[in-house]
Amino acid sequence: MVMQVTAIYPGSFDPVTNGHLDIVNRSRDKFDRVIVAVLVNLEKTPLFTTEERVAMLGEVTGQWNNVEVDTFEGLLVKYAKANQAKVILRAIRAVTDYEYEFQMALMNRRMEPDIETVFMVPAVEYSYLSSRLVKEISLLGGSVSGLVPPIVEDSLKKKTGSEG
Ligand code: ADP
Repeated sequence: MVMQVTAIYPGSFDPVTNGHLDIVNRSRDKFDRVIVAVLVNLEKTPLFTTEERVAMLGEVTGQWNNVEVDTFEGLLVKYAKANQAKVILRAIRAVTDYEYEFQMALMNRRMEPDIETVFMVPAVEYSYLSSRLVKEISLLGGSVSGLVPPIVEDSLKKKTGSEG
């Protein structure tokens, strides 16, 4: 029997950036199936609705046939288990990401020992990039060209009313 490995790449993706895409692109030949899972977080107020985030992700990952886009609520490990995923994929950009990610990985392992968190490092040109910064720049009228896919750039311009 050949084992199929499914990895879940969870996050807010508000919105998806070229850094996220770099990780998805690197992961897709390491795993049989990659599910980009958008967290439906009722506490945070996102710039883009869940539907908008899923639609943008669907469009920019559509050419990769083992990559799917989905949403989840509640415990990530429960969602991973329900989808037969053995891997949670997260990215570490800088040391500042490490402490939080380390805590999450160990807590998730405590709840589901069979699920492994795998960390990947993005291309260095995306290591200082975050959805939060992209939104801030856009809201202040700056250009985010080259940091996000063109369709995201257009959506940001519409959402923030900026010329970019
Ligand atoms: P979260 O709210 O869970 O941090 P994000 O959408 O910000 O959600 O990030 C989802 C995942 O993508 C996290 O593992 C995060 O470290 C990673 N990530 C965020 N920005 C980048 C980037 N510029 N390059 C690579 N990975 C990134």
